[in-house]
Amino acid sequence: MSDLLLKNIKTLYTFNHEEQIIENCDIYVVDGVIKEIGSNLAEKLKRPEKVVDCTGLTGLPGFVNTHHHLYQTLFRGIREVQELPLFPWLKGLYQFWQHIDEDAVYYGAMVGMSELLRTGCTYTADHHYVFPENAEKTLIDKQIMAAREIGIRFHATRGSMSLGEDAGGLPPMRVVQTETEILEDSQRLIDTYHDAGDYAMTRVALAPCSPFSVTASLMKESAKMARKNHVMLHTHLAETKDEERFCIERYGMRPFELMESLEWTGKDVWFAHGIYLNRQEISRLSGSGIAHCPSSNMKLNSGICRTSELVKKNAGIGLAVDGSASNDGSNMLEEVKRMYLLNHLKYGTKGLTAYECLKIATRGGAEVLGRTDTGYIDTSMAADLIFFDLSDIAYAGCHDPLISLVSLGNHSFTRMTIVNGIIVARDGKLTNIDSDMMAEKANRYAQKIVALTREQKQRKVY
Ligand SMILES: [Zn+2]
Repeated sequence: MSDLLLKNIKTLYTFNHEEQIIENCDIYVVDGVIKEIGSNLAEKLKRPEKVVDCTGLTGLPGFVNTHHHLYQTLFRGIREVQELPLFPWLKGLYQFWQHIDEDAVYYGAMVGMSELLRTGCTYTADHHYVFPENAEKTLIDKQIMAAREIGIRFHATRGSMSLGEDAGGLPPMRVVQTETEILEDSQRLIDTYHDAGDYAMTRVALAPCSPFSVTASLMKESAKMARKNHVMLHTHLAETKDEERFCIERYGMRPFELMESLEWTGKDVWFAHGIYLNRQEISRLSGSGIAHCPSSNMKLNSGICRTSELVKKNAGIGLAVDGSASNDGSNMLEEVKRMYLLNHLKYGTKGLTAYECLKIATRGGAEVLGRTDTGYIDTSMAADLIFFDLSDIAYAGCHDPLISLVSLGNHSFTRMTIVNGIIVARDGKLTNIDSDMMAEKANRYAQKIVALTREQKQRKVY
């Protein structure tokens, strides 16, 4: 048994069923699970293995990132595509991405997960859909390995692309796979890694990439496989007007209507973006969640998600940084700030409060990923906790700690990030890995791939 006592927490925002905000309390954690919340717990406990003084700290449940493409951390700031909208942006980047391999995926994951942990994310999903023909077949295995080493709770998704340029899709043929290859590997990953139990550190979902890069039959087969294995389904949806036009031209349906026709709705489905859902479609989501990606939507000029309408309709909504090539950072606290501001740009003074935004970023995200064992703070919940020190001068004069978190501050590091009862980051330093070494290796792989791509383009290999 391992136990941990977090004592003298100044203010604890639980986001639990009673929406409790507790002043001056302790949290006692045993084997990664919260056993007790109260005051002066030290007096009644027999010498806990580890005691951490949280005097002056503000505590929250860890943030949940509901959509990412971790490998893209190696492709930030590519000048050829930097200012383009989604479709030409993707076409330009496929040229680079077709060179990724196991090492690139591993170091890309380490970079993204490091950024997430330092900025308060304790549980992340990833959407990996690029499997180049010459790469090893174990790319997602490498992501899971990275997650286990760094100590983040991880929801891997087996992404896929089966509709290449030759068949009217967007991606080049070099990065698409056959349906048989995709489905066989999906089953292998579920069998090898998916943990359906409470407090699972690793889960697997199936995630055909988007309406313009996969066939309708792969969507149907993926849904059948996911439901047979009781795993979730994920895809990009209603991200841009270009996608809407594509669906109407190819299928005679709007993107969400296409999902309905493929039986891709329900509590076991979550969509990235959901910007171009109309009011009727929002009321027909049937439990499907939305991963809201404010930075990516602004960067790619995609549009503004109807966040307030989703909240009003009680639809599932979580927050996400999206791929690092479209954000460009994996900074969860910054993402909360951007959600708050973007929502206010759309809805003005009727916009979401700081509390509502933080609830979306924590409990909302966990619910979107189908979890009831993390996302809020209570006894029997996973000890996924983050702490901030708001005594810094950057927060001076602010009368609401939650406004401090979503509007103020000179940096985004937590004082402490705890996943599954283990301290994995402190003041921006990761406790399980050597981040300087990881950064150096990631840079080396990134430079190698980008140089190779540019050299081949010059020689007009593509
Ligand atoms: Zn995405």
